[in-house]
Amino acid sequence: MLAYVLTRYGGADAMELQDVPRPVAGPGEVLVRVFAAGLNPVDYKQREGAVRVITRPRLPLVAGSELAGIVEAVGPGVTRFATGDRVFARVDKTLLGAFAEHAAVHEDFVALMPRSLSYTEAASLPLAGLTALQALRDELEIKPGTKLFISGGAGGVGTLAIQLAKYFGAEVTTTASPRGEELVRRLGADAVVDYTKENLAEVLHGFDAALDLVGGETLDQTFKILKPGAKVVSIAGMPEPQTALKDLAAPAWMTALFWAISLGIRSRAREANVRYRYLFMHPSGEDLKFLSRLVSEGKLEPVVDSSYPLEKIADAFAALEQGRAKGKIVVTMD
Ligand code: NDP
Repeated sequence: MLAYVLTRYGGADAMELQDVPRPVAGPGEVLVRVFAAGLNPVDYKQREGAVRVITRPRLPLVAGSELAGIVEAVGPGVTRFATGDRVFARVDKTLLGAFAEHAAVHEDFVALMPRSLSYTEAASLPLAGLTALQALRDELEIKPGTKLFISGGAGGVGTLAIQLAKYFGAEVTTTASPRGEELVRRLGADAVVDYTKENLAEVLHGFDAALDLVGGETLDQTFKILKPGAKVVSIAGMPEPQTALKDLAAPAWMTALFWAISLGIRSRAREANVRYRYLFMHPSGEDLKFLSRLVSEGKLEPVVDSSYPLEKIADAFAALEQGRAKGKIVVTMD
């Protein structure tokens, strides 16, 4: 089968289209004929080696973090899916495998995709949707009336986070350049700040909670616009070790390294009297079912910036790496 393979760590040419053997469904796995796969910044960070200490993949491997397609076979012990099911998934963080014509995925990570969606739309949801859901529901515990700030509202995660935050009843302020303003308002943002012109700390204040999708200086500014004791969850700054590494049985040296690196962010959060947490999303078929239900009820819509055939995946990556996507970029396989 045709697949986009991570051959080594490096620049754009470290991933290449290759003919590789088709996977088989192992115990607990379904074999999916993939029709579409979403691109995410983590895919090029993986290629650059920036997250290898966390996900520890073994190269070469087929890249790609999320997919939509049809179940073609089920492995021993699979109980929840059958041949012919239309499914979507955020695949295993270490094994990956979505940028290919077939992928074997553990059934725990899979859900039936919303009936109303195309494969392209469904493939745009898992990673960004699970991230937004786990941040807003599990970490920030958004309630009706929460005054919430989301930085970077126009991207893959932001476009879904705005909608989910509105679903949970928050009052949402977000940032977008003029290119993204109309989109984020249509998705439900109550107020939009043009981050290319305004300093957040000068124009905003009094938030109960914040979801940081940008990191760096934006995260530092976010600390200053929150009420004392408020919680900020970041997915883009430096991983906070306990959260980022807890699932991975990370060795002590790795945890110590992450503590050291994240010390600056943590001390700035303490100075601003806010509670900072880093979230590393996790695959979950159960959470995908929740997102699927919201789509069926008309409360969540996928936002696809553009799609490319698998043969043109290098062009799709070039577009993603510009960091200007409105919603998600997806590749398709016929
Ligand atoms: P995208 O590539 O989709 O983000 C692109 C968008 O970001 C564009 O719409 C752009 O808008 C906007 N943007 C760029 N810079 C800024 C800025 N300074 N302020 C506000 N908006 C900005 O990324 P994702 O949404 O997919 O991911 C966001 C980050 O979160 C990435 O760093 C990603 O790696 C990380 N992430 C982490 C996860 C985790 O589990 N920890 C999970 C998922 C993502 P414009 O063109 O208008 O500038």
